[in-house]
Amino acid sequence: MKCEICGAELKKEGNICKKCYAQYVKDEEIKSDIKNNKNVLLRLHRKYIPFYQLTRYGDYYVLALIIVFSLLAQKLYLYTFLAIFLIMIIFYSVLAYNKNKAIKTTCTFYDKRVVWKYKDNIKSLDYSNIDDVKYYQNFFQKKFHLADVQFRPKKGSYIMNGFEIKNVPNFNETWDKICDIIISKREN
Ligand SMILES: [Zn+2]
Repeated sequence: MKCEICGAELKKEGNICKKCYAQYVKDEEIKSDIKNNKNVLLRLHRKYIPFYQLTRYGDYYVLALIIVFSLLAQKLYLYTFLAIFLIMIIFYSVLAYNKNKAIKTTCTFYDKRVVWKYKDNIKSLDYSNIDDVKYYQNFFQKKFHLADVQFRPKKGSYIMNGFEIKNVPNFNETWDKICDIIISKREN
């Protein structure tokens, strides 16, 4: 007999192996937590602040200005106008995309694990599997009380097996709450 999911040889009678069963139970637990919104200790939202977003594209502003001024210098007014128009559209699209993504991204601390969610994409880490939680804050994020928080797993890289939530608001206050939960849950 082989496991129907991973193909591992089964020692006992059945359809799936222990490992896959444990994963199945966990996935169901996560789904039910999300659905019922139960056992929520803390929920982090990714904040969208237009003024902060505007600080992020320095290189592109320079590039846009170079394009516009070089067209102007050649007296290509129609192209200058078109270039400005295009740049505005691109810029607006980037901001709209970021806003949409920010509003829909959350990180929720449940009883057993923390779950990152963006639309139907879900990543989770059991507290017992968290190696470390770190935050990053650039100059402007500091001004806006924002920070990126990374959840790093004991096994694997944080990009593949962990996750990050960007621009968590009211950061100083929130960071204390995050630490309290992680510390108390890891001790259990
Ligand atoms: Zn299996």
